Amino acid sequence: MVTIIGAGLAGLSAAISLAERGIPSNLVSQQPSERAQSVLAEGGINAALDTMGEGDSWQEHFADTMRGGCDLADPNAVAGLTSHAPEIARWLAALGVPFAREDGRMVQRSFGGQKKKRTAYAKSSTGKALMTALIDEARKYEAAGLIHRLPHHELIDLTVENGVCCGARLWDTYADTVLRCGAPVVLACGGLNGLFPGMTTGTVHNTGGAAALAFARGAALANLEMIQYHPTTVQISGKRMLVSEASRGEGGRLCVMRNGKPWYFMEELYPELGNLMPRDVVSRAMVRVCDVSGCEKQVYLDMTGLDAAIWRGRLPDLRAELIHYLALDPKKTPIPVSPGIHFFMGGLYVDERHRTTVSELYAAGECACQYHGANRLGGNSMLAAIYGGKIAARNIRADVAGSVEKLGRLSDEERENLTVSPRFSLSLRDALLSDLGMVRSEADLKRSLSAVDALEPRTAAERGCLTLGRAMLLSALARKESRGAHCRADFPERDEAFHKTTVATIADGEIAVGFQAIPERRAEP
Ligand SMILES: Cc1cc2nc3c(=O)[nH]c(=O)nc-3n(C[C@H](O)[C@H](O)[C@H](O)COP(=O)(O)OP(=O)(O)OC[C@H]3O[C@@H](n4cnc5c(N)ncnc54)[C@H](O)[C@@H]3O)c2cc1C
Repeated sequence: MVTIIGAGLAGLSAAISLAERGIPSNLVSQQPSERAQSVLAEGGINAALDTMGEGDSWQEHFADTMRGGCDLADPNAVAGLTSHAPEIARWLAALGVPFAREDGRMVQRSFGGQKKKRTAYAKSSTGKALMTALIDEARKYEAAGLIHRLPHHELIDLTVENGVCCGARLWDTYADTVLRCGAPVVLACGGLNGLFPGMTTGTVHNTGGAAALAFARGAALANLEMIQYHPTTVQISGKRMLVSEASRGEGGRLCVMRNGKPWYFMEELYPELGNLMPRDVVSRAMVRVCDVSGCEKQVYLDMTGLDAAIWRGRLPDLRAELIHYLALDPKKTPIPVSPGIHFFMGGLYVDERHRTTVSELYAAGECACQYHGANRLGGNSMLAAIYGGKIAARNIRADVAGSVEKLGRLSDEERENLTVSPRFSLSLRDALLSDLGMVRSEADLKRSLSAVDALEPRTAAERGCLTLGRAMLLSALARKESRGAHCRADFPERDEAFHKTTVATIADGEIAVGFQAIPERRAEP
């Protein structure tokens, strides 16, 4: 019995792949799948299906992904991802995902950093459509006893002995009891949004607590300094709202008012891809143009030129959301936007087989560092979550036995240790973000580190968050170059001496940050 922590796209994909091989799993999640962050995904999923008559190929998808990630991803893993993407898209379609179609063929839209139209979509609610299909597929295996769903269960500890993961302790938050599940364990617990409450587009239910536990038990973390700022977000109550890249894929244009007239700066500064440059490039350009003489300090996303058919057929949900949350109709008014934290390219270090540095502990999806290098391309994350879940499942031995054991109730001390007070959370966020923004320098990062060190965590969960924050800052300090999402004012150039993965480990409470060479590319798969 395999234990999977997380029931978003990565967790569901791993559970289904195991079930297809006849291997049972416990699919554990703090919240039901229907509420995982994957449901929020909007714009689409990439696969070089070549349905648009542009002569697309997986090799071009590979090249765009590597280039977009500034060559920091493992090329062999990316080759696996991109070459299997068409098969994954066809599998999803066969499961019933209502991908947009014309004359029977799947329609694909443009997305950032990609030279061909290769993003398959279901209006602007692709994540929801994919999740619905995978939840249905998982139910089939639930009925056959191969997937045992445990929603409302939180990971509270991982048992690791001599570098081998032996199982996980879970808290059933409804029944208020503790369970023990066996190894192998797959972590599919999403990104580190919980470290930045109110400031990310993702869900803060992904607290980072599971990654902190794994780190404390010996699993290395990689490329933590690579935090993606999405160009088009809007602050709303309690979070940043995403305006999907699909808006620019369908013709939306970024502009700033310069001397009283709109200046479509991306089209002028980057004529080849214009508004669809990779996200790190667009976000930095947005900040820079606001300092250009004669420019106002606000960038707008202008979608007023989009055809009625696009609003009706391709982006209806996006328009409804903008009207609902901002009381602005994008058909008539440009939307004020600014970059916001959206995705974590870094996370648990995994090899090509999705093994962490702890035996019998795997990781997949946004909690794992693989595929995206220094900057993720839009549409590659859902693909990577599904593919990564499949790869982790494929590499788990078939003969594993396991059990679920019911332990007693949670002790008061344990319960207390699981809490993170909102006050601590906000203080940590402010300490991190004061100087770990889109542009960093050694002096900034050291100031941030002192502010983090001055915090006084009261519980184990707070100490875990603080440790993750410190590891992020130390990783950002160690990378003395600018690459992708990591931009250093004091080291503004890309430096090939840092063409390496940043790896953070912890021993006796001390965090060490080193670098690991990126594997050479093997012959084509
Ligand atoms: C608004 C928005 C739009 C996006 N649009 C796109 C898009 O168009 N295309 C694209 O490719 N990507 C998109 N993304 C990114 C993409 O949605 C995610 O990266 C991806 O879905 C992550 O999947 P996952 O399975 O790794 O994690 P999640 O879907 O976040 O699932 C994490 C799971 O772990 C569980 N969990 C977390 N912590 C614990 C714990 N301690 N104990 C137990 N369970 C735990 C959660 O309950 C959940 O079930 C978007 C993201 C956002 C926020």
